[in-house]
Amino acid sequence: MGIEIIESATATVGDVGVRRALPRRQRRMVGAWCFADHMGPMQATPDHGLDVGPHPHCGLQTVTWLVAGEVLHRDSLGTEQLIAPGQLNLMTAGRGVSHAEEATGTYAGPVEGIQLWVAQPAVTREGDPAFEHHESLPELDLPDGRATVLVGSLAGVESPARIDSPMVGAELVLAGPTPLALDPTFEHGLVVLHGAIFVDGELLTPGHLGYLEPGRDHLHLAPEGEARVMLLGGVPFSEAITMWWNYVVRSRAEATAAHRSWLADDARFGTVDSDLDRVVVDLPPWA
Ligand code: MN
Repeated sequence: MGIEIIESATATVGDVGVRRALPRRQRRMVGAWCFADHMGPMQATPDHGLDVGPHPHCGLQTVTWLVAGEVLHRDSLGTEQLIAPGQLNLMTAGRGVSHAEEATGTYAGPVEGIQLWVAQPAVTREGDPAFEHHESLPELDLPDGRATVLVGSLAGVESPARIDSPMVGAELVLAGPTPLALDPTFEHGLVVLHGAIFVDGELLTPGHLGYLEPGRDHLHLAPEGEARVMLLGGVPFSEAITMWWNYVVRSRAEATAAHRSWLADDARFGTVDSDLDRVVVDLPPWA
């Protein structure tokens, strides 16, 4: 089986245009990865950025990775963390957390990146919320490029970031044809941020997910010029998840209960110290 190419959906989050590679009807997840938005580029000013107001999450981790600009993360744990390219913000929601993604007060210029969600397994999804910032991450030298390992491990290079199931998330910057060792127990997804790459003779460009089934122990990537590509992989997720709005749960009833807590502003999702408005949407149609 070769690469399966699925076109991303387009959407707007806050004021920012995104290309949504996951979930798609044809493919809901890659390993535990259940959401992938390539966001921007947008032009930030000191007081206008992603401008995503406080909103809740449960049952997932958010993985934020920028390729341009700066963003200020605030959450209900009291975290206030600036993020820039090459750094990782990893928020674990567990039973509930809320956060906002804001302008920095100083940065003006383009903002571009990828916002990813990882579904938490049953053993951790009701656990405590947590936040990690990693100022720098391990890199893997490739014959004509490099990989930065955000989470999990790639070809023996392991990120210090928390993972709750076997997986990998890496950024590849490639200037020429490159072989890459893969874990054959993982399925993988490729999302091109800049440039274009040939995979199995097929051209993959921004705005698409390239999906690869488990069973591969290596991959040959050939960029056209220079390319920047996200590699997402993991053991196929064994639990059937329900995703609604910002919640990863196991049933519609759980999603409804989570959303009633958010609408009631009870203690479950805490409070974010933000000047932006809380994001509120209606209850799900089945409620
Ligand atoms: Mn969020």
